[in-house]
Parts: sequence; C-alpha cells; structure tokens
Amino acid sequence: MDTEVIVVGAGPTGLMLACELGLAGVRPLVLERQAERSDTPKAGGLGGQVLELLRHRGLLERFEAACTGPAPAPKFPFGGIHLDLTGLADPPLRALPLPQQRLEELLEQRADELGAEVRRGHRVTGIRQDGTAVTAEVLGPDGPYRVSARYLVGCDGARSQVRERAGIAFPGTAYPEVTGWPRSPSPTR
Ligand SMILES: Cc1cc2nc3c(=O)[nH]c(=O)nc-3n(C[C@H](O)[C@H](O)[C@H](O)COP(=O)(O)OP(=O)(O)OC[C@H]3O[C@@H](n4cnc5c(N)ncnc54)[C@H](O)[C@@H]3O)c2cc1C
Repeated sequence: MDTEVIVVGAGPTGLMLACELGLAGVRPLVLERQAERSDTPKAGGLGGQVLELLRHRGLLERFEAACTGPAPAPKFPFGGIHLDLTGLADPPLRALPLPQQRLEELLEQRADELGAEVRRGHRVTGIRQDGTAVTAEVLGPDGPYRVSARYLVGCDGARSQVRERAGIAFPGTAYPEVTGWPRSPSPTR
C-alpha cells in the first residue's frame, strides 16, 4: 500500500477533504489532472453556515484576510437574486467575497500544512479494487504509473469518472436550458 487515501481532484471538494483528513492525522495523496489551477471565473464567494464551519476548522481568518471586498458583504448573489442584507441590524446570513481560484489556493496551502501531497498534472486513467486495496492508474508528467491505497475518493467534479468507473449512477434531471447534459461519454473535459 503506497498511501492511506487517494483523493482524485484538487477542486474545492478534494482540497477540503484533504484538509479534513489532515486534521484527523491522515496524509492523503491528491491527484489533479490540471498542471495549473484553472483561471476560469467560477464561484465568487462563500455565504451562510459554511462560514461558521470554516471558523471551527481554523480556516475563516485566512479566508477573511484574502477576501476581495468588504466582509461581511452587504449584498450577496443567491441564484439569480441579489440579496440585500443592509436592511438587517444583525443579518443571519453572512457572505465573504472570495473568488474560487483564490479559495482553492488557500485550501491547498492548508492541505499542504497538514501533510497532504498534491500532485498536479497527474490524471487518474483507471481504477482497480480488490479486497484490501484500490489501485489508481495515473498518467503523470513523466509517464504512466500506479499507486495503491486503502481508500480512493472521487472528488473529480460533476462529470466524475471515478463515479462512472465505480458504477455509481447519477440519477436526477437537469434543467432543459443546461445543454449537453447528460453528456455522452468522453474521457476529457
Ligand atoms: C463557469 C463556471 C461558473 C461557476 N460559477 C459558480 C458560482 O457563481 N457560484 C457557485 O457556487 N458555483 C459556481 N460554479 C460551480 C463551482 O465551480 C463548483 O460547484 C465547484 O467547482 C465544485 O467543486 P468540486 O471540487 O466538487 O469540483 P471541481 O471544481 O470540478 O474539481 C474537480 C477537479 O477534479 C479534477 N479531475 C477531474 N477528473 C480527473 C481525473 N481523472 N484525474 C485527476 N483529476 C481529475 C479536475 O481537473 C478538477 O480540478 C461554477 C462553475 C463553472 C464551471
């Protein structure tokens, strides 16, 4: 066994999991196919109870220090609606403007501090499992290799190949305006 836990994907979910595992004394291996963090603008911040959860985890202060606007933000986009919180003396909902790319950077820093190893440019191309271990086939910058662990967690996004390869269904319906969903099988995004 090479490691205890392999996390596939270094998005917010995989990195947060790496931090949680680190707090529990586990040093996961995080495999991320992208060599560089994406600069596509995605989520613009955090809001609601997650902020208190982050405080419990010792993460809120560094997020607040990195936020890109006044915190708590006086307004917050929620779906298509912009909530105006300025009329409330003690707003129950707090919002923190923090672009997803920056959030991922901070989570990765924290995961690193807690002992996780994040390998960028390493794509998981296959998974095998027996009674004791799971083995990931990986294509890294220096070529293909294998790594085994007691657990492998798919944090590889909405079109998770780990989920597909594990035979886990993704039931549900999509809004008709979401085009190309469900997708036809494709190994790349
Ligand atoms: C254009 C855009 C705008 C968005 N805007 C908002 C917004 O305004 N508000 C909001 O709340 N959310 C927004 N989102 C959604 C938000 O970005 C996602 O909910 C969030 O990124 C999900 O995090 P995740 O870690 O689960 O998955 P992801 O961020 O998708 O991370 C998955 C990671 O897994 C990696 N990966 C995939 N396959 C493999 C593999 N085989 N091997 C190794 N690594 C792999 C991917 O490269 C990726 O880095 C937006 C998303 C997009 C695309």
